[in-house]
Parts: sequence; C-alpha cells; structure tokens
Amino acid sequence: MRIDVLTLFPEILEGFFSSSIMARAVERNLVSYGLVNIRDYATDKHHKCDDEIFGGGAGMLMLPGPVSSALDAVDAKNARVVYVTPGGRLFNQAYARDLAGEERIVILCGRYEGIDQRIIDAYVDDEVSVGDYVLSSGETAALVIVDAVYRLIPGVISGESLDEESFEGGLLEYPQYTRPAVYDSMQVPEVLVSGHHANIVKWRMKKRLEKTLLYRPDLLQGKGLEGELRAMILELIEQGGEA
Ligand code: SAM
Repeated sequence: MRIDVLTLFPEILEGFFSSSIMARAVERNLVSYGLVNIRDYATDKHHKCDDEIFGGGAGMLMLPGPVSSALDAVDAKNARVVYVTPGGRLFNQAYARDLAGEERIVILCGRYEGIDQRIIDAYVDDEVSVGDYVLSSGETAALVIVDAVYRLIPGVISGESLDEESFEGGLLEYPQYTRPAVYDSMQVPEVLVSGHHANIVKWRMKKRLEKTLLYRPDLLQGKGLEGELRAMILELIEQGGEA
C-alpha cells in the first residue's frame, strides 16, 4: 500500500513512519509513504497557506491553491482521498479494514478552521472523524488512521494476533496476563494456568461478552447471538449487566 499524507507539519508524522513495526513494513516493501508539506506548494514569497473566512467569523481557513497543488503532486485523483475532520463519519475498525484493501490512500490534514469546501468537493472521497472532540490539527487524526490501517495489511502483523482483538466479531478483547503468575499478591485466574484449552476459550469468550456489555453495549445491539453465546450473555445480564 502507498500512503501519502498532506500536512503543514510533516515532522509530526515522520517519527511514526520511521519507527518500530511501520519502519519494518516499509523496509519489507509492504508499505511505502510520502509526507508532503503543503507549504511547499504556496506560491507567494511568505509561503502563505491560510486566509480569512468569507462571511466572517473567527479563525482562518487553509487556502485552496496550495492544497490543490499538493493533491495534484501525489496524483490524488487516482487514490482514495481521506480528509480528517471532526465533521466526518466516525472512524472505526470496519472502515480501517475497508481502507486496508486500497492500493493507494491520501490523507489530507487540516489546520486552523479546516480547508476550503471546494477542495472537499473536487478531491475528497471520505470525510472522517476520529472522535467526537476537536483537535487543533489533522496530524494526530491522520496517525490514528494510518496506524489502524497499515497493521491490517497482510504480512505486517501475524493474522493470529489480529483475530481476537477488540472489535473483531463485534466484541472487545478479554483480559490478559503474563508472568509472574502471582504479582503483588494478585493471582492470574486459575483457568489460564490450567492448561485446559476448551475452558480457556470459554472463559475468554465470557470475559469478552462481559467487558462489551459493561463498556460498549452498543456493539451487541442487533448482533443476534445464538446458542452458548446467547446463554452466556443472558447469564451475565441476570448477574447485573445491562443490555
Ligand atoms: N472548524 C472545525 C470544526 O469545527 O469542524 C475544526 C477545525 S480543527 C481546529 C483543525 C483541523 O483539525 C481540522 O481541519 C481537522 O483536519 C483536524 N481535526 C480536528 N478534530 C478532528 C477529529 N475529531 N477528527 C479528525 N480530524 C480532526
């Protein structure tokens, strides 16, 4: 996959692309990337990239000219273009999976009050928000999207470690423990050291349901749980959870 991020502050993203799992994915040619400084496409001598907003109001807006030239420089018309904005659809794991299937994505980071609507109309495929709050700029939102997407590209991370993660199968992940088996007088649940695989699987599923019921009951809505899972969830609800 090729990822181009268009930003006024490429240095915010550089460390991510040159570190850890991403650096290895780049080295193994699973991911290639470009960090494009929109300011390089400003045409005046001060490299101005923002101006006042028509109709008045506080703040400035990114000028369409430099953003458009930066988008053309990465041939954005032939890629999936994502503009990160609090005004977009809410980002989630299903959408990350969808993006992970693309050959090329371009992520456009806003600054100030955002970008000129004509740029959105002409270039942007998806407007995406990383949550119901306002960040000061799009770089951290772009990092959230890049991080969630690239790890789903086959070969970047072993498929097994992705299988039971939160949101896979619409449930949160079960609690996990490592050595030592007793830490600060707290014991690892007995079942996990029993060596009984079937019981471990059952315990983990119960914990996934319990946690989802507690923190994200919305994920269970309309899930149509059947058989043993249905029995487990009914038992948990009886014990005091909420549906
Ligand atoms: N005036 C905008 C509004 O009220 O929707 C907020 C602009 S914000 C200060 C500047 C930039 O940060 C946005 O253009 C966007 O790129 C980014 N941003 C802020 N919050 C975000 C969020 N929740 N998700 C994605 N991007 C966000």
